Amino acid sequence: LKAKKIVILGGGYGGLVTSRKLGKLLREGEAEVTLINKHDYHYIATQLHKTGAGTATDDKITIHIPNLIQTDKIRFKKGVIDSVDFNSQQVHLENGEKVSYDYLLLSLGFEVDTFGIPGVKENAFKIRSFRSTKAIYYHLLHQFEAYKEDRDPSRLTFVVAGAGFTGIEMIGELAEAIPGMCKIYNIPVSETRIINVEASGSVLPGFDQKAIDYTSNYVKKYGIELMTSTKILECTDTAIKLDNGTTLPSRTLIWSGGVRGNTLLEKLGLPIEKSRVKVDRHLRVQGMKNVFCIGDAARFMKNETEALPPTAQVAIQQAELCAPNIIAALRGESLREFQYSHKGTVASIGNTAAVGNVFGFKINGLFAAFMKQVIEARYLFVLGGPTLVIRQFSKLAKPYL
Ligand code: NAD
Repeated sequence: LKAKKIVILGGGYGGLVTSRKLGKLLREGEAEVTLINKHDYHYIATQLHKTGAGTATDDKITIHIPNLIQTDKIRFKKGVIDSVDFNSQQVHLENGEKVSYDYLLLSLGFEVDTFGIPGVKENAFKIRSFRSTKAIYYHLLHQFEAYKEDRDPSRLTFVVAGAGFTGIEMIGELAEAIPGMCKIYNIPVSETRIINVEASGSVLPGFDQKAIDYTSNYVKKYGIELMTSTKILECTDTAIKLDNGTTLPSRTLIWSGGVRGNTLLEKLGLPIEKSRVKVDRHLRVQGMKNVFCIGDAARFMKNETEALPPTAQVAIQQAELCAPNIIAALRGESLREFQYSHKGTVASIGNTAAVGNVFGFKINGLFAAFMKQVIEARYLFVLGGPTLVIRQFSKLAKPYL
């Protein structure tokens, strides 16, 4: 019997965990698996804010993909996906190469949503990928350097848009990193401003009041200015216009105002709702038998009206079922339905504080920071076993001090 071809697009949590699991479950010669990703490294998406603030080393955030997969069983191909021909079952890469599949997994992740706000796409920094966050770090250093020359306060006014989990994690990290940068450039911390602008009435909208109060008080203690009930209307390279009539002179807007599914998926003509691909209970693209979609790119309905959120936890759990379901499909066996089990969510606020809930318990402070580390360790374990946990946790956290 000819080996079936399984092709996985995207090396985030979803794609990698599925690849690893397929490597374990497939019988000898049963299928050829190819994982295609834009870069030959996987980045720890849940830690990207640390790259932005320079509070984690590059090798702590990125891992060489061939080190994470059983290369004797899974083929890794570095390439950018241009399109997919679902009729001839071929993936077209930007370099003109065509890759045939019998079973396809779309695990292409998220994109930052800027909602068409003028200037944000062009001028704001995004917490999207290793490269986009690394650009934030170098930009921050450059602002300190330039400030020494021109003393323009807009250089040291750092604005984070949105106080969802991404925004809060980013300002927490900046609060820790900025004093270190001030020390290096011999500039008083009092000459810097970190501002968070949030359209809703509070930080962490939708969270419980205790978490909101804890987070607001904690970040204010660090001198962060919270501007809630304030919307960003426009952004240039030197100023940010707010809906309260003021304009903040700032050269740094870090946009964490929201996320959407990968735009490539729309180009492919798949069934899309709210920018994500509609999937059935078995994680297959609605109406397709041999195309699966998981993670931030997929819209899996939790109930009649609500979809599962775009989180690492969901992507990993889906990957753990997606691998056996792909195998069941190729063996002609029945597929299992995906059941999400929510373990909790924790957002870090710098290195020593966090907020969230775990197994239904509301937590904050040092204990929450510890739990956040436990969650990160669990993700690393799923990605690369105990060796990866030990390797990543033994790396130095602060590269520039
Ligand atoms: P989000 O949609 O949760 O938050 C975006 C925030 O930006 C909202 O509060 C919104 O009111 C605000 N906003 C939007 N437009 C604005 C504007 N023009 N001006 C001012 N504020 C504006 O997005 P996110 O924080 O990136 O989170 C996305 C998903 O990722 C969520 O499901 C989240 O739970 C998840 N996530 C989880 C973690 C974690 O578990 N530690 C970390 C990061 C993200």
